[in-house]
Amino acid sequence: MLLQFDIMEKKVNIQKVVRQHLEMEQFFTGFSLKSKAETHEQHDKEDSMAVAEKAVELEKIAEEVNQCRKCDLGSLRTNAVPGEGHPHARIMFIGEAPGADEDAQGRPFVGRAGQLLDRVIEACGLKRSDVFIGNILKCRPPENRDPRAEEIISCLPYLQRQIEIIEPQVIVALGAHAARTLLNTTKSIGELRGQFHEYYAGIGRPSIKLMATYHTAYLLRNYSQENRRRVWEDMKKVLAELGLPTPE
Ligand code: URA
Repeated sequence: MLLQFDIMEKKVNIQKVVRQHLEMEQFFTGFSLKSKAETHEQHDKEDSMAVAEKAVELEKIAEEVNQCRKCDLGSLRTNAVPGEGHPHARIMFIGEAPGADEDAQGRPFVGRAGQLLDRVIEACGLKRSDVFIGNILKCRPPENRDPRAEEIISCLPYLQRQIEIIEPQVIVALGAHAARTLLNTTKSIGELRGQFHEYYAGIGRPSIKLMATYHTAYLLRNYSQENRRRVWEDMKKVLAELGLPTPE
Protein backbone atom coordinates (compact mmCIF):
# COMPACT_ATOMS: atom_id res chain seq x y z
CA MET A 1 0.00 0.00 0.00
CA LEU A 2 2.77 2.32 1.04
CA LEU A 3 4.74 1.34 -2.01
CA GLN A 4 1.80 1.91 -4.22
CA PHE A 5 1.33 5.29 -2.63
CA ASP A 6 5.01 6.02 -3.17
CA ILE A 7 4.71 5.09 -6.79
CA MET A 8 1.65 7.24 -7.19
CA GLU A 9 3.45 10.09 -5.48
CA LYS A 10 6.38 9.57 -7.82
CA LYS A 11 4.04 9.45 -10.81
CA VAL A 12 2.47 12.70 -9.76
CA ASN A 13 5.87 14.17 -9.17
CA ILE A 14 7.10 13.04 -12.56
CA GLN A 15 4.13 14.72 -14.19
CA LYS A 16 4.91 17.79 -12.19
CA VAL A 17 8.55 17.74 -13.24
CA VAL A 18 7.62 17.22 -16.89
CA ARG A 19 5.18 20.10 -16.72
CA GLN A 20 7.72 22.35 -15.03
CA HIS A 21 10.27 21.40 -17.66
CA LEU A 22 7.81 22.17 -20.47
CA GLU A 23 6.85 25.39 -18.78
CA MET A 24 10.49 26.45 -18.69
CA GLU A 25 10.77 25.51 -22.34
CA GLN A 26 7.65 27.50 -23.09
CA PHE A 27 9.10 30.46 -21.23
CA PHE A 28 12.22 30.46 -23.38
CA THR A 29 10.76 29.40 -26.74
CA GLY A 30 7.22 30.76 -26.70
CA PHE A 31 5.88 27.23 -27.32
CA SER A 32 2.51 26.76 -25.62
CA LEU A 33 1.60 23.85 -23.36
CA LYS A 34 -2.09 24.48 -23.65
CA SER A 35 -4.22 22.26 -25.82
CA LYS A 36 -5.80 23.85 -28.89
CA ALA A 37 -9.22 23.66 -27.27
CA GLU A 38 -7.91 25.42 -24.15
CA THR A 39 -6.25 28.13 -26.24
CA HIS A 40 -9.37 28.76 -28.31
CA GLU A 41 -11.48 28.86 -25.19
CA GLN A 42 -9.15 31.45 -23.67
CA HIS A 43 -9.07 33.54 -26.86
CA ASP A 44 -12.87 33.43 -27.08
CA LYS A 45 -13.03 34.57 -23.46
CA GLU A 46 -10.51 37.36 -24.10
CA ASP A 47 -12.36 38.43 -27.27
CA SER A 48 -15.72 38.51 -25.54
CA MET A 49 -14.13 40.39 -22.64
CA ALA A 50 -12.80 42.96 -25.07
CA VAL A 51 -16.20 43.27 -26.73
CA ALA A 52 -17.93 43.58 -23.36
CA GLU A 53 -15.48 46.30 -22.29
CA LYS A 54 -16.01 48.14 -25.56
CA ALA A 55 -19.78 47.93 -25.04
CA VAL A 56 -19.39 49.50 -21.58
CA GLU A 57 -17.22 52.32 -22.96
CA LEU A 58 -19.67 52.97 -25.80
CA GLU A 59 -22.52 53.08 -23.31
CA LYS A 60 -20.66 55.73 -21.31
CA ILE A 61 -20.34 57.86 -24.45
CA ALA A 62 -24.03 57.35 -25.22
CA GLU A 63 -24.91 58.59 -21.71
CA GLU A 64 -22.74 61.69 -22.22
CA VAL A 65 -24.35 62.32 -25.60
CA ASN A 66 -27.81 61.99 -24.07
CA GLN A 67 -26.91 64.71 -21.52
CA CYS A 68 -24.99 66.91 -23.98
CA ARG A 69 -25.77 70.62 -24.23
CA LYS A 70 -22.54 71.71 -25.92
CA CYS A 71 -24.42 73.37 -28.79
CA ASP A 72 -27.91 74.73 -29.40
CA LEU A 73 -29.10 71.47 -30.97
CA GLY A 74 -29.08 69.95 -27.49
CA SER A 75 -32.08 72.00 -26.46
CA LEU A 76 -33.97 71.43 -29.73
CA ARG A 77 -33.86 67.64 -29.87
CA THR A 78 -36.45 65.12 -28.76
CA ASN A 79 -33.76 62.46 -28.45
CA ALA A 80 -30.04 62.46 -29.06
CA VAL A 81 -28.85 59.71 -31.39
CA PRO A 82 -25.52 58.38 -30.14
CA GLY A 83 -25.29 55.54 -32.68
CA GLU A 84 -25.65 51.80 -32.35
CA GLY A 85 -24.26 48.47 -33.44
CA HIS A 86 -21.56 45.94 -32.79
CA PRO A 87 -18.96 47.23 -30.28
CA HIS A 88 -16.14 45.70 -32.33
CA ALA A 89 -17.68 46.12 -35.79
CA ARG A 90 -15.39 45.69 -38.78
CA ILE A 91 -17.38 48.35 -40.65
CA MET A 92 -18.72 51.66 -39.33
CA PHE A 93 -21.25 53.55 -41.43
CA ILE A 94 -21.21 57.26 -40.67
CA GLY A 95 -23.95 59.60 -41.84
CA GLU A 96 -24.51 63.30 -41.45
CA ALA A 97 -27.05 63.88 -38.67
CA PRO A 98 -30.31 62.43 -37.38
CA GLY A 99 -33.51 63.29 -39.23
CA ALA A 100 -37.05 63.47 -37.87
CA ASP A 101 -37.51 59.69 -37.47
CA GLU A 102 -34.15 59.29 -35.75
CA ASP A 103 -34.86 62.24 -33.45
CA ALA A 104 -38.20 60.66 -32.50
CA GLN A 105 -36.68 57.23 -31.76
CA GLY A 106 -33.14 58.05 -30.59
CA ARG A 107 -31.76 55.55 -33.11
CA PRO A 108 -29.69 56.16 -36.27
CA PHE A 109 -30.93 55.55 -39.80
CA VAL A 110 -34.44 54.31 -39.03
CA GLY A 111 -36.32 56.42 -41.60
CA ARG A 112 -36.48 55.89 -45.36
CA ALA A 113 -32.76 56.52 -45.83
CA GLY A 114 -32.15 54.01 -43.04
CA GLN A 115 -34.31 51.38 -44.70
CA LEU A 116 -32.25 51.77 -47.84
CA LEU A 117 -29.06 51.52 -45.78
CA ASP A 118 -30.43 48.27 -44.29
CA ARG A 119 -30.84 46.97 -47.85
CA VAL A 120 -27.28 47.94 -48.73
CA ILE A 121 -26.00 46.14 -45.61
CA GLU A 122 -28.07 43.05 -46.44
CA ALA A 123 -26.87 43.11 -50.05
CA CYS A 124 -23.35 42.87 -48.61
CA GLY A 125 -24.36 39.65 -46.86
CA LEU A 126 -24.29 41.38 -43.46
CA LYS A 127 -26.79 42.23 -40.76
CA ARG A 128 -27.34 45.60 -39.16
CA SER A 129 -26.12 44.09 -35.87
CA ASP A 130 -22.76 43.21 -37.50
CA VAL A 131 -21.89 46.86 -38.18
CA PHE A 132 -21.94 50.13 -36.24
CA ILE A 133 -24.05 53.01 -37.52
CA GLY A 134 -23.49 56.56 -36.37
CA ASN A 135 -23.47 60.18 -37.44
CA ILE A 136 -21.23 63.23 -37.42
CA LEU A 137 -23.86 65.14 -35.41
CA LYS A 138 -25.73 63.36 -32.63
CA CYS A 139 -28.72 65.73 -32.63
CA ARG A 140 -31.08 66.73 -35.40
CA PRO A 141 -30.52 70.16 -36.98
CA PRO A 142 -33.84 72.03 -37.41
CA GLU A 143 -35.53 71.26 -40.74
CA ASN A 144 -32.60 68.93 -41.51
CA ARG A 145 -30.40 71.88 -42.44
CA ASP A 146 -26.69 71.26 -43.02
CA PRO A 147 -24.51 70.85 -39.93
CA ARG A 148 -22.75 74.07 -38.87
CA ALA A 149 -19.02 74.22 -38.24
CA GLU A 150 -19.44 74.98 -34.52
CA GLU A 151 -21.85 72.02 -34.15
CA ILE A 152 -19.37 69.69 -35.82
CA ILE A 153 -16.54 70.99 -33.63
CA SER A 154 -18.61 70.33 -30.48
CA CYS A 155 -19.90 66.93 -31.55
CA LEU A 156 -17.02 65.31 -33.43
CA PRO A 157 -15.06 64.20 -30.32
CA TYR A 158 -17.90 61.77 -29.48
CA LEU A 159 -17.55 60.07 -32.85
CA GLN A 160 -13.75 60.12 -32.66
CA ARG A 161 -13.95 58.32 -29.30
CA GLN A 162 -16.46 55.81 -30.69
CA ILE A 163 -14.07 55.05 -33.57
CA GLU A 164 -11.17 54.65 -31.11
CA ILE A 165 -13.15 52.12 -29.09
CA ILE A 166 -14.67 50.16 -31.96
CA GLU A 167 -11.45 50.08 -34.00
CA PRO A 168 -13.21 49.29 -37.28
CA GLN A 169 -11.20 48.08 -40.25
CA VAL A 170 -13.22 50.23 -42.64
CA ILE A 171 -15.28 53.38 -42.23
CA VAL A 172 -17.95 54.05 -44.84
CA ALA A 173 -18.68 57.76 -44.94
CA LEU A 174 -22.19 58.33 -46.29
CA GLY A 175 -22.38 61.57 -48.21
CA ALA A 176 -20.32 64.72 -48.52
CA HIS A 177 -20.69 65.98 -44.93
CA ALA A 178 -19.42 62.78 -43.35
CA ALA A 179 -16.64 62.30 -45.90
CA ARG A 180 -15.43 65.91 -45.76
CA THR A 181 -15.49 66.03 -41.98
CA LEU A 182 -13.68 62.73 -41.48
CA LEU A 183 -11.09 63.45 -44.17
CA ASN A 184 -10.73 67.14 -43.38
CA THR A 185 -11.21 68.15 -46.97
CA THR A 186 -13.53 70.34 -49.03
CA LYS A 187 -13.61 68.00 -52.05
CA SER A 188 -16.94 66.91 -53.48
CA ILE A 189 -18.43 63.48 -52.86
CA GLY A 190 -18.06 62.81 -56.59
CA GLU A 191 -14.32 63.25 -56.25
CA LEU A 192 -14.03 61.37 -52.97
CA ARG A 193 -16.15 58.30 -53.61
CA GLY A 194 -14.95 55.08 -55.20
CA GLN A 195 -11.49 54.91 -53.65
CA PHE A 196 -10.04 54.32 -50.23
CA HIS A 197 -8.77 57.21 -48.17
CA GLU A 198 -7.00 57.15 -44.82
CA TYR A 199 -8.84 58.30 -41.72
CA TYR A 200 -6.31 59.73 -39.27
CA ALA A 201 -7.12 58.00 -35.98
CA GLY A 202 -4.77 59.96 -33.69
CA ILE A 203 -1.17 59.84 -32.51
CA GLY A 204 0.18 56.31 -32.21
CA ARG A 205 -2.87 54.72 -33.79
CA PRO A 206 -2.91 53.13 -37.23
CA SER A 207 -4.97 55.02 -39.77
CA ILE A 208 -8.25 53.43 -40.84
CA LYS A 209 -9.36 52.83 -44.41
CA LEU A 210 -12.27 55.08 -45.33
CA MET A 211 -14.59 54.62 -48.29
CA ALA A 212 -16.82 57.53 -49.18
CA THR A 213 -20.02 56.84 -51.02
CA TYR A 214 -23.35 58.52 -51.72
CA HIS A 215 -25.67 59.05 -48.79
CA THR A 216 -28.71 56.79 -49.03
CA ALA A 217 -30.95 59.89 -48.74
CA TYR A 218 -29.26 61.26 -51.89
CA LEU A 219 -29.69 57.87 -53.53
CA LEU A 220 -33.42 57.93 -52.74
CA ARG A 221 -33.74 61.33 -54.37
CA ASN A 222 -31.62 60.27 -57.35
CA TYR A 223 -32.54 56.62 -57.70
CA SER A 224 -30.89 55.95 -61.04
CA GLN A 225 -29.32 52.69 -62.06
CA GLU A 226 -26.01 54.51 -62.44
CA ASN A 227 -26.02 55.84 -58.85
CA ARG A 228 -27.05 52.48 -57.42
CA ARG A 229 -24.27 50.82 -59.42
CA ARG A 230 -21.77 53.34 -58.04
CA VAL A 231 -22.75 52.64 -54.43
CA TRP A 232 -22.56 48.92 -55.09
CA GLU A 233 -19.10 49.31 -56.68
CA ASP A 234 -17.95 51.20 -53.57
CA MET A 235 -19.34 48.53 -51.26
CA LYS A 236 -17.73 45.75 -53.28
CA LYS A 237 -14.37 47.42 -52.65
CA VAL A 238 -15.15 47.50 -48.94
CA LEU A 239 -16.00 43.78 -48.94
CA ALA A 240 -12.82 42.97 -50.86
CA GLU A 241 -10.76 45.01 -48.38
CA LEU A 242 -12.26 42.96 -45.54
CA GLY A 243 -11.74 39.67 -47.37
CA LEU A 244 -15.50 39.07 -47.44
CA PRO A 245 -17.23 37.44 -50.40
CA THR A 246 -19.33 39.61 -52.69
CA PRO A 247 -22.85 38.23 -52.95
CA GLU A 248 -24.14 38.12 -56.53
N1 URA B 1 -29.50 60.62 -42.33
C1 URA B 1 -28.35 60.64 -41.62
O1 URA B 1 -27.34 61.20 -42.05
N2 URA B 1 -28.33 60.04 -40.45
C2 URA B 1 -29.38 59.39 -39.95
O2 URA B 1 -29.26 58.83 -38.86
C3 URA B 1 -30.54 59.35 -40.72
C4 URA B 1 -30.59 59.97 -41.90
